[in-house]
Amino acid sequence: MEPMAPRTKIFTEVDYEKNGKQVGYLYMPHSVTRSAYGNLAFPIAVVKNGTGPTIFLMAGNHGDEYEGQIALCKLIQTLDPARVQGRIIVMTAANLPAAMNSARVSPIDQGNLNRAFPGDPNGTPTQQIAWYIDQVIYPMAQYHHDLHSGGSSLDYRPFVSMRKTNNPDLDARTMAALKAFGAPDALVWAYSHDVGFAATAAIARGVVALGGEFGGCGSVSRTGVAIVEQGLRRLLAHTGIMEADRNVPPPQPTRLWEVAGRDYYVLAPDAGLFEHAVSLGDQVEAGQLCGHVHFVDNPGRPPVPVHFARAGMVICRRHLGRVERGDCVVHLATEWRG
Ligand SMILES: [Zn+2]
Repeated sequence: MEPMAPRTKIFTEVDYEKNGKQVGYLYMPHSVTRSAYGNLAFPIAVVKNGTGPTIFLMAGNHGDEYEGQIALCKLIQTLDPARVQGRIIVMTAANLPAAMNSARVSPIDQGNLNRAFPGDPNGTPTQQIAWYIDQVIYPMAQYHHDLHSGGSSLDYRPFVSMRKTNNPDLDARTMAALKAFGAPDALVWAYSHDVGFAATAAIARGVVALGGEFGGCGSVSRTGVAIVEQGLRRLLAHTGIMEADRNVPPPQPTRLWEVAGRDYYVLAPDAGLFEHAVSLGDQVEAGQLCGHVHFVDNPGRPPVPVHFARAGMVICRRHLGRVERGDCVVHLATEWRG
């Protein structure tokens, strides 16, 4: 029924090789007091027709990032297998417990799926679903899109993104897909200070992997949903899996940005209330004021300023007012250098 699923405990009624549209579940044994032989049921859709490439579309990797979750639900409703050449695999809530809890991480294991790859077949639920995606789904895919936003704590100027690798051929094919998606802004992650990303696991398997941040503040951005919906249609046409949708306008020229170092990130220097001094989209200079931390429980203490270490464009801002020392309050992007 399913391809080789090394050591995974996850099972499904969905047949990845069957033509047509199936909307079903990945079942993960989860034995708890209220359900001794229970399972977590992660939604999955497979739309297949004939031979052609496979694209794996994923949202809800972080549960409180909604634009992609909504856009993929709408996509599943409208997909007609007769208009597909190849295969589209969709997960609308990749970390289901997190998505149902409107949280970044799973309430069951505090697992952050986008730091959990390549996962563990006998680990926590978050580690198990990462393992399944990496071992079963990524090997079937030539294309991948992992849809994010800023979640509860951050606000993003929407962009589609890719990760720079040391594989020039894969980077060139990914850049072509990035441009085909046609978002007004696109970003190349040329630097990362963390590990365990879904995209990193996909890239390791040679998959053309896109990502993106399409809003934030724990809300649903209309602009973000529209960028995702139109972009996915263009991406599906780019892969050859579907014909171009006549209702989708051709892409605007994409502005290319990059994040290329740790100094793009501004961290809160103290705990308190953070007052921003800049807005999304602002161009800033090195040394410019980013904001102040205020101490409402000790108003005799002067506020602590924090300044930008480098120039750039404000592409992300912390949404929540209260900060702990080390929280990211802003990160910058600069024009892509190629
Ligand atoms: Zn995310």
